[in-house]
Amino acid sequence: MQHKINILSHSLNEISSFLKEHGEKPFRAKQIYEWLWKKHAKSFDDMTNLSKSLRQLMHEKFTINYINIKDLQISSDKTIKVAFELSDGYLIEGVLIPTENRATACISSQVGCNLGCEFCATGKLGLKRNLTADEIYQQVVEIMNLADEKYGLSLTNIVLMGMGEPLLNYDNVLQAMEMVSSENGLGMSPQRITLSTVGLPRMIKKLADDQVKFNLAVSLHSANNKKRNEFMPVNRKNDLDALRDSLIYFNQKTGQRITFEYLLMDGINDSLKDAEEFAEYCKSFPVKINIIEYNSTSDKQFKKSSNENFDAFVTFLKSRNLVVNVRRSRGQDIDAACGQLAGKKKK
Ligand code: SAH
Ligand code: SF4
Repeated sequence: MQHKINILSHSLNEISSFLKEHGEKPFRAKQIYEWLWKKHAKSFDDMTNLSKSLRQLMHEKFTINYINIKDLQISSDKTIKVAFELSDGYLIEGVLIPTENRATACISSQVGCNLGCEFCATGKLGLKRNLTADEIYQQVVEIMNLADEKYGLSLTNIVLMGMGEPLLNYDNVLQAMEMVSSENGLGMSPQRITLSTVGLPRMIKKLADDQVKFNLAVSLHSANNKKRNEFMPVNRKNDLDALRDSLIYFNQKTGQRITFEYLLMDGINDSLKDAEEFAEYCKSFPVKINIIEYNSTSDKQFKKSSNENFDAFVTFLKSRNLVVNVRRSRGQDIDAACGQLAGKKKK
């Protein structure tokens, strides 16, 4: 028997060429695409504006494998963590973070991650596999529907800050974000999308060459190579100098400023000397800084900074005229906060 392909992995153009090869009118591709991505059809039989013979042909050649919501956990602060089951049984996680006038989808790019940052629960899993473009895109669609159903909110922002390193699944992530921003997909402005990376210089240069329009956030967490090497092993081969060069290149080519994520961990990277090194590192390009609160994982090695150190760190950066946002954690009671995503089942 011929192996059927998941239609959701096909772009509009690919569907169109398939139809042409089979003597069908190419404009039907747009109808099929809309059924899949706008109306979320579960079967070709639902596509009532297609002829019976075309529905039959599609059925013979393709499957429609959506990802399934396996579990939902709602935090006391209204954050919702979703466990999605993939067609091969793996579980990944996405999060809906609602505020008064915003709804942000935090989505995954890989099943697990092999970069092994010491403070991160996902890093403990190792990498199982990359997500396909449609699996990435579908998380957005599902979380968008949840935002509407549960809170009557439209999805306003997307952050690639769930499980995995997006720049190690480059093509699929870019294809998915293309679908998010395309008029045939969700028509969302790329300025509402943020990709968060551990900071891989070669791939950041590629983003610049590809002239991406979404925001780039880099998880810096220390501007000192010795320290960064210790808790982010990826830094040993991609040090802060190489990272700086790639960010200068990115800024020059795209005109965009860089967002730095900085996770404050007690006694590790939260001294005034750390703040000073960080401020120095920010001098090479326009930046925006997000200071993040550390969320506990099963690893007891790290603790969040004391309020005193936290405030002193932020005050120091502000005194250097840097743009600083403080991100207090959301959804901690359900392990939905950054770095806590590890496919843990409900207790
Ligand atoms: N791999 C990418 C994106 C996923 S991680 C990256 O590293 O940027 C998303 C964010 O969560 C990163 O900024 C990461 O450093 C942060 N994070 C990891 N563990 C955390 C924890 N225990 N508490 C708070 N943030 C954490
Ligand atoms: Fe991977 Fe990001 Fe976690 Fe590091 S912080 S292990 S890069 S998911």
